[in-house]
Amino acid sequence: MIARPKITIAYLSGIFCQLAASAVAPAEAGEASAPSFRCSGTDAVIRLEAPANTDWICEGAAAAIDFLGAIGVPQRATVEINIVETLPSGLRDAVGCYDWLHGDIHVLGSDRCIRDTEAPQAFRVPNDAGIYRSYVAHEVAHALAAGSFGFAHPSAAAQEYIAGVVQISVLEPGQRSEILSRFPGDGYDGAVEINFLSYQLDPGRFAVEAYRHFMKQEDGGAFVERLLSGDIRLKDQPTY
Ligand SMILES: [Zn+2]
Repeated sequence: MIARPKITIAYLSGIFCQLAASAVAPAEAGEASAPSFRCSGTDAVIRLEAPANTDWICEGAAAAIDFLGAIGVPQRATVEINIVETLPSGLRDAVGCYDWLHGDIHVLGSDRCIRDTEAPQAFRVPNDAGIYRSYVAHEVAHALAAGSFGFAHPSAAAQEYIAGVVQISVLEPGQRSEILSRFPGDGYDGAVEINFLSYQLDPGRFAVEAYRHFMKQEDGGAFVERLLSGDIRLKDQPTY
């Protein structure tokens, strides 16, 4: 008898705020009065519905905007970040999600993300400030990329590739090295290997391998540009 392989579907973040729960959790009483902050020096607005360190959120947003700007992906609109107590039920294993319909971001509060041992630890190290910032950067990368795809319905793989590259890139070098050491590999070899199933099976590994792939390109920014233009189309299912 062959044991059935155990497959865990997980999301480092969701790009499916809408699909996961058919809608983002409906506005709760009092949500409208949740305090809002505008990051200093960064075009991002935070709405706090859960306890969180706003400095970390602004730093994560700024890091993603700076990284993408440096490779030619502009910020076209104010980034709206909702810090929430819970994500839609279909995203139990996620720390955040980007809502394509409304163009905003939902991220768990930093208090919950770091202190709650039930919170997802996709990188096989305890969540801390640096990792929390990187989660924010991941979602902000989704928002900026969404505004830059030159065609309709980009694959989830392409979106997660960009978000994963940004997330790993914005980590402090020491923390990045530690995380990379938890995921042996030398990066995806080609576009065929970068698919959404790989992401679902192990989102932390997907981000690390995407980062390594990006870094070993002669010009990683050009690869991202080709994803955004549709010149390279990543598939959501593996090709055999
Ligand atoms: Zn994502």
